Amino acid sequence: MLTSAQRAAMMISRYADSADPDRRTSTADARIAYCLARGVDMDDIDPASGYDRSRRAYESVRASWVWNIKMHGFSDFYGDGDRIAAAQASWAAHRPGFTAGDDWLADAEKAHRAYWEQPERSCSNPHCDFHPSDDHAELLRVIAEMEAEDAAGPADLGPGVQGSLFD
Ligand SMILES: [Zn+2]
Repeated sequence: MLTSAQRAAMMISRYADSADPDRRTSTADARIAYCLARGVDMDDIDPASGYDRSRRAYESVRASWVWNIKMHGFSDFYGDGDRIAAAQASWAAHRPGFTAGDDWLADAEKAHRAYWEQPERSCSNPHCDFHPSDDHAELLRVIAEMEAEDAAGPADLGPGVQGSLFD
Protein backbone atom coordinates (compact mmCIF):
# COMPACT_ATOMS: atom_id res chain seq x y z
CA MET A 1 0.00 0.00 0.00
CA LEU A 2 1.51 3.30 -1.11
CA THR A 3 1.45 6.26 1.23
CA SER A 4 -0.02 9.51 -0.10
CA ALA A 5 3.52 10.95 -0.25
CA GLN A 6 4.69 7.99 -2.38
CA ARG A 7 1.71 8.32 -4.72
CA ALA A 8 2.38 12.05 -5.08
CA ALA A 9 6.08 11.42 -5.77
CA MET A 10 5.19 8.92 -8.52
CA MET A 11 2.76 11.38 -10.13
CA ILE A 12 5.42 14.06 -10.11
CA SER A 13 8.04 11.94 -11.84
CA ARG A 14 5.51 10.65 -14.40
CA TYR A 15 4.11 14.05 -15.43
CA ALA A 16 6.97 16.44 -14.68
CA ASP A 17 7.64 18.85 -17.58
CA SER A 18 4.59 17.65 -19.50
CA ALA A 19 3.44 20.06 -22.22
CA ASP A 20 -0.22 19.26 -21.44
CA PRO A 21 -1.59 21.99 -19.12
CA ASP A 22 -3.92 19.51 -17.37
CA ARG A 23 -0.96 17.28 -16.66
CA ARG A 24 1.01 20.28 -15.43
CA THR A 25 -1.81 21.18 -13.06
CA SER A 26 -1.96 17.59 -11.81
CA THR A 27 1.79 17.68 -11.31
CA ALA A 28 1.55 20.93 -9.34
CA ASP A 29 -1.27 19.41 -7.27
CA ALA A 30 0.80 16.30 -6.68
CA ARG A 31 3.80 18.42 -5.64
CA ILE A 32 1.58 20.36 -3.23
CA ALA A 33 0.31 17.06 -1.77
CA TYR A 34 3.86 15.81 -1.53
CA CYS A 35 5.03 18.98 0.25
CA LEU A 36 2.11 18.83 2.71
CA ALA A 37 2.78 15.14 3.39
CA ARG A 38 6.35 16.08 4.30
CA GLY A 39 5.15 18.78 6.66
CA VAL A 40 5.89 21.85 4.52
CA ASP A 41 3.86 24.89 5.54
CA MET A 42 1.15 25.80 2.97
CA ASP A 43 2.50 29.39 2.92
CA ASP A 44 5.84 28.05 1.71
CA ILE A 45 4.37 26.21 -1.30
CA ASP A 46 4.18 27.99 -4.65
CA PRO A 47 0.56 27.36 -5.75
CA ALA A 48 1.36 27.56 -9.50
CA SER A 49 4.13 24.95 -9.54
CA GLY A 50 3.73 23.18 -6.20
CA TYR A 51 7.41 23.75 -5.43
CA ASP A 52 8.56 23.95 -1.85
CA ARG A 53 9.85 27.51 -1.38
CA SER A 54 10.61 27.21 2.32
CA ARG A 55 13.82 28.37 3.93
CA ARG A 56 14.69 24.72 4.50
CA ALA A 57 14.27 23.91 0.79
CA TYR A 58 16.39 26.93 -0.13
CA GLU A 59 19.19 25.91 2.22
CA SER A 60 19.03 22.36 0.90
CA VAL A 61 19.29 23.41 -2.78
CA ARG A 62 22.08 25.84 -1.95
CA ALA A 63 23.95 23.19 0.06
CA SER A 64 23.74 20.70 -2.78
CA TRP A 65 25.23 23.27 -5.21
CA VAL A 66 28.01 24.10 -2.77
CA TRP A 67 28.72 20.38 -2.20
CA ASN A 68 28.77 19.56 -5.92
CA ILE A 69 31.16 22.39 -6.73
CA LYS A 70 33.25 21.57 -3.68
CA MET A 71 33.72 18.01 -4.94
CA HIS A 72 33.72 18.45 -8.73
CA GLY A 73 34.85 22.01 -9.40
CA PHE A 74 33.19 24.61 -11.58
CA SER A 75 33.40 25.12 -15.32
CA ASP A 76 31.57 28.05 -16.83
CA PHE A 77 32.53 26.83 -20.32
CA TYR A 78 30.60 23.58 -19.72
CA GLY A 79 27.45 25.36 -18.58
CA ASP A 80 27.86 25.37 -14.79
CA GLY A 81 27.57 29.15 -14.69
CA ASP A 82 24.26 29.12 -16.58
CA ARG A 83 22.86 26.33 -14.41
CA ILE A 84 23.70 27.91 -11.07
CA ALA A 85 22.46 31.31 -12.34
CA ALA A 86 19.14 29.72 -13.39
CA ALA A 87 18.73 28.05 -9.99
CA GLN A 88 19.48 31.31 -8.18
CA ALA A 89 17.20 33.33 -10.50
CA SER A 90 14.33 30.95 -9.81
CA TRP A 91 14.76 31.43 -6.07
CA ALA A 92 15.26 35.19 -6.46
CA ALA A 93 11.92 35.41 -8.31
CA HIS A 94 10.07 33.70 -5.44
CA ARG A 95 12.19 34.51 -2.41
CA PRO A 96 14.22 37.68 -3.03
CA GLY A 97 14.74 37.96 0.72
CA PHE A 98 16.64 34.66 0.73
CA THR A 99 18.89 35.38 -2.23
CA ALA A 100 19.74 39.04 -1.58
CA GLY A 101 23.49 39.25 -1.05
CA ASP A 102 23.78 35.46 -0.85
CA ASP A 103 26.57 34.33 -3.18
CA TRP A 104 26.39 30.54 -3.64
CA LEU A 105 29.36 30.42 -5.98
CA ALA A 106 31.66 32.35 -3.64
CA ASP A 107 30.95 29.88 -0.84
CA ALA A 108 31.29 26.94 -3.24
CA GLU A 109 34.68 28.19 -4.45
CA LYS A 110 35.84 28.59 -0.85
CA ALA A 111 34.72 25.04 0.00
CA HIS A 112 36.31 23.67 -3.18
CA ARG A 113 39.66 25.32 -2.54
CA ALA A 114 39.70 24.34 1.14
CA TYR A 115 39.04 20.71 0.19
CA TRP A 116 41.41 20.33 -2.77
CA GLU A 117 44.27 22.69 -1.99
CA GLN A 118 45.87 20.20 0.39
CA PRO A 119 49.31 18.54 0.29
CA GLU A 120 47.76 15.08 -0.13
CA ARG A 121 45.43 15.92 -3.03
CA SER A 122 44.85 18.33 -5.85
CA CYS A 123 41.83 19.18 -7.96
CA SER A 124 41.07 16.34 -10.38
CA ASN A 125 38.84 18.31 -12.77
CA PRO A 126 40.90 19.40 -15.81
CA HIS A 127 38.17 21.93 -16.71
CA CYS A 128 37.90 23.52 -13.27
CA ASP A 129 37.93 27.31 -13.55
CA PHE A 130 39.51 27.54 -10.08
CA HIS A 131 42.33 25.12 -11.01
CA PRO A 132 42.55 25.13 -14.79
CA SER A 133 44.92 22.70 -16.50
CA ASP A 134 47.25 24.31 -19.06
CA ASP A 135 44.97 23.21 -21.91
CA HIS A 136 41.84 24.53 -20.22
CA ALA A 137 43.59 27.80 -19.33
CA GLU A 138 44.59 28.17 -23.00
CA LEU A 139 41.01 27.46 -24.10
CA LEU A 140 39.70 30.14 -21.71
CA ARG A 141 42.29 32.59 -23.08
CA VAL A 142 41.26 31.87 -26.67
CA ILE A 143 37.58 32.33 -25.80
CA ALA A 144 38.33 35.63 -24.02
CA GLU A 145 40.22 36.81 -27.13
CA MET A 146 37.36 35.79 -29.42
CA GLU A 147 34.84 37.58 -27.21
CA ALA A 148 37.03 40.69 -27.15
CA GLU A 149 37.17 40.56 -30.97
CA ASP A 150 33.39 40.13 -31.19
CA ALA A 151 32.95 43.12 -28.90
CA ALA A 152 35.34 45.16 -31.04
CA GLY A 153 33.25 44.44 -34.16
CA PRO A 154 33.91 42.64 -37.44
CA ALA A 155 36.40 45.25 -38.74
CA ASP A 156 38.91 44.27 -36.10
CA LEU A 157 40.16 40.95 -37.49
CA GLY A 158 43.64 40.56 -36.11
CA PRO A 159 46.22 37.78 -36.20
CA GLY A 160 44.42 36.01 -33.33
CA VAL A 161 41.78 34.82 -35.80
CA GLN A 162 44.32 32.50 -37.42
CA GLY A 163 44.93 30.68 -34.14
CA SER A 164 43.38 27.24 -34.05
CA LEU A 165 42.75 25.00 -31.07
CA PHE A 166 43.45 22.01 -33.31
CA ASP A 167 46.96 22.88 -34.47
ZN1 LIG B 1 39.35 22.85 -8.94
